[in-house]
Amino acid sequence: MARIGFLGLGNMGGPMAANLVKAGHVVAGFDPVPEARARLESAGGEAAGTIAEAVAGAEIVLSMLPEGRHVREAYLGTGGVLDAAAPGTLLIDCSTIDVATARAVAAAAAERGLSMLDAPVSGGVAGATAATLTFMVGGDEAAFDRARPILEAMGKAVIHAGPSGNGQAAKICNNMMLGIQMISVCEAMALAEKLGLSHQTLFEIASKSSGQCWSLTSYCPVPGPVPASPANRGYKPGFTVAMMLKDLKLAQEAAQSVGARTPLGAEAYQLYNLFASEATRGLDFSAIMTMIGAKVD
Ligand code: NAD
Repeated sequence: MARIGFLGLGNMGGPMAANLVKAGHVVAGFDPVPEARARLESAGGEAAGTIAEAVAGAEIVLSMLPEGRHVREAYLGTGGVLDAAAPGTLLIDCSTIDVATARAVAAAAAERGLSMLDAPVSGGVAGATAATLTFMVGGDEAAFDRARPILEAMGKAVIHAGPSGNGQAAKICNNMMLGIQMISVCEAMALAEKLGLSHQTLFEIASKSSGQCWSLTSYCPVPGPVPASPANRGYKPGFTVAMMLKDLKLAQEAAQSVGARTPLGAEAYQLYNLFASEATRGLDFSAIMTMIGAKVD
């Protein structure tokens, strides 16, 4: 069993750290929010007062932080992970951040002789709680092999995506597809209704035809066809509009940085930007149905 330092004990990191404790690891966690540290303690972990305290003596450091700037600060800042980690410590960042930051922080770690992986996840808070996340991992093969058993304690699939940054590349490409597909299902549902075809009938036909996709069959954005989808509970998340907007923005920034053409990704970003307001940011991302399906005057 390993000694693990865990940074960022929020909606995702909290249950992930608790699952590592359940698997028998010794977990020392840091989060600036006292309630988050207290939750780790009640799950059987140790609350650390600083990043350096969480990292001291750890064989593995995991992080689950909001954005790239938090990852940069936590790893590269004074008293951060790179200052505190002992030689041989394996670093694994599971946050969803931009590819450039993931590669820059991993390169800085390598300069200090430390291996670092980017390992963003799919599966949301439900997957984090049930230990059924999918990890998409960027970094070298030896570090991946070492990380695999640790990640398996928190997930059902651990996939090596290639060198440093490729985990983040996989994550934003996947979520760009998801955003575009969700909007496509919303448009088709709205059009069907106006043509006199019910949501349920379109669902039954399209779910067995070439329009089939996850946004339709697992996460249908209208109430009825998929009883477990957020549309049946007032669009309670799930995966929020704010998170989809964040990932679509990361995809657009990445596309611009390499000159990739992503016209539908750009349009999906614009539509989510238009939809996101104080009132809607916290709703499930499938709530964009309420904007797309609204009456046209
Ligand atoms: P969250 O805001 O609930 O948790 C982030 C935590 O990091 C907070 O508790 C915050 O206090 C803490 N933090 C900030 N700076 C810190 C530092 N320097 N050291 C230690 N802790 C620090 O966010 P979340 O929903 O847990 O998401 C975390 C990451 O996972 C994000 O990058 C998000 O995009 C990604 N993600 C989230 C979901 C989801 O459904 N929530 C799904 C997939 C991926």
